[in-house]
Amino acid sequence: MALRLEGKVALVTGSGSGLGEATAKRFAQMGAHVYVTDVNIAGLERVVDEIKQAGGGATGREQNVTIEADWDVLMTEIIQSHGQLDILVNNAGIALTGNVEEVTLDDWRKTQAVNLDAVFMGTRAAVKVMKGRGGSIINISSIEGIIGDPNTPAYNASKGGVRIFTKSAALHCAAQGYNIRVNSVHPGFIWTPMVEEGFAQLNEVGAEMLAKVNTEIPLGSMGEPLDIANGCLFLASDESRYMTGSELVIDGGYTCR
Ligand code: NAP
Repeated sequence: MALRLEGKVALVTGSGSGLGEATAKRFAQMGAHVYVTDVNIAGLERVVDEIKQAGGGATGREQNVTIEADWDVLMTEIIQSHGQLDILVNNAGIALTGNVEEVTLDDWRKTQAVNLDAVFMGTRAAVKVMKGRGGSIINISSIEGIIGDPNTPAYNASKGGVRIFTKSAALHCAAQGYNIRVNSVHPGFIWTPMVEEGFAQLNEVGAEMLAKVNTEIPLGSMGEPLDIANGCLFLASDESRYMTGSELVIDGGYTCR
């Protein structure tokens, strides 16, 4: 039986760590050649090595997703070396805390630049090379793009922006007949370096929140990066051929209430 992503070429941003790492590894296990990009060079090199050791195909490339001109350069490199791009996961993200009275304009803008502006630039660059052949674009939002959190207004705004931007891009691609699907993924609490640092930044409030959070998740505990990687795998594969502009929530039931 063919692997679910056999013959496909994927790019996963911010895949030197956390959810991106798990997604890149899962895609490679399922037969894709994966471009692993990140600002964290040690992380991306480790992930590429681990994929190769496991028998998969991967190319590592430093990428700061906020640099507009580099998106087209990277797309050209991918097309020149692999002839196609089938899957883009706009995953790179940052989470800066500070309530609406505390957050600085600088932190607000940094958050939008990585979490929202780069998702737009990545989607735009991928559409250019995917149209005609088709593809799947997966934008990593968050449950925090659906529900509010008093300590993360900038993050909430960026992830809400990703959610609705995804629908606009999906409608455009459908109307043009590009055969490009664009969907968003909304992880709940998943234990990664980002979440660990986010709770640590909030000091005592963070420690209290951390103690409470597992009790508030209907399925009883935080998720694992593989739970999100499996959702991305479904959206990346042709099994989700009838899904576009959708929101895939993977949160242990957190947003049900
Ligand atoms: P993570 O472990 O911190 O991984 C994110 C990666 O992105 C890091 O390697 C980071 O590098 C990199 N990065 C940061 N800024 C970048 C930039 N400008 N260009 C390229 N790469 C950059 O975080 P994660 O938890 O896996 O998060 C991945 C995505 O899932 C994010 O979009 C996040 O908002 C979303 N998400 C996560 C959760 C969760 O519970 N973990 C929940 C909902 C949504 P550095 O480490 O050097 O900064």
